[in-house]
Amino acid sequence: MDAQYGDKRIGVYPGSFDPLTNGHLDIIRRASKLFDHLIVAVLVNTSKKNAIFTMEERVALIRKCTDQMPNVEVQMFDGLLVDFVKAHQAVAIVKGLRAVSDYEYELQMAALNKHIDKDVETIFLMADIQNSFLSSSIVKELARHGGDIRGLVPGEIVDDIEAKMLYKG
Ligand code: ADP
Repeated sequence: MDAQYGDKRIGVYPGSFDPLTNGHLDIIRRASKLFDHLIVAVLVNTSKKNAIFTMEERVALIRKCTDQMPNVEVQMFDGLLVDFVKAHQAVAIVKGLRAVSDYEYELQMAALNKHIDKDVETIFLMADIQNSFLSSSIVKELARHGGDIRGLVPGEIVDDIEAKMLYKG
């Protein structure tokens, strides 16, 4: 057992978080109550195109919004998620489910991770109905065209996102 975590039940919430949205933060809040310790794992090599924020920026934005949550930690990760989960002796991967479209992909990923390691569980939390349309891509698209992103992302990072999008054009 990793001395840092003792015998805590650890969950891992992975994603690209480019950038963090209220949908992500809702899952973080809820998952932090299910586990003793929650690691938000930010993917280094995101396969998603149009990544706007650097790894360090994504991590900083998440930390800014979770600094009042003592059992939430933010880390970067590269490579196989299963390896990261094992290295931290986590008991489960946490995923958010918005729509049927998420379900198909997530089912495939959960099955793959189980195939790689049968002890790795994936737990799905249903997105809050208010966030069911919300994605990082939508936030970026809106901000890029000067739309109002308040209410879609945590208040403390609205300015950071708008400034970045303005700079990127
Ligand atoms: P996005 O689809 O916004 O680019 P990520 O790849 O960063 O998101 O998603 C990380 C995790 O968060 C995934 O499990 C995803 O299903 C979940 N998630 C994304 N947006 C929401 C939301 N609005 N509500 C709940 N869960 C979400």
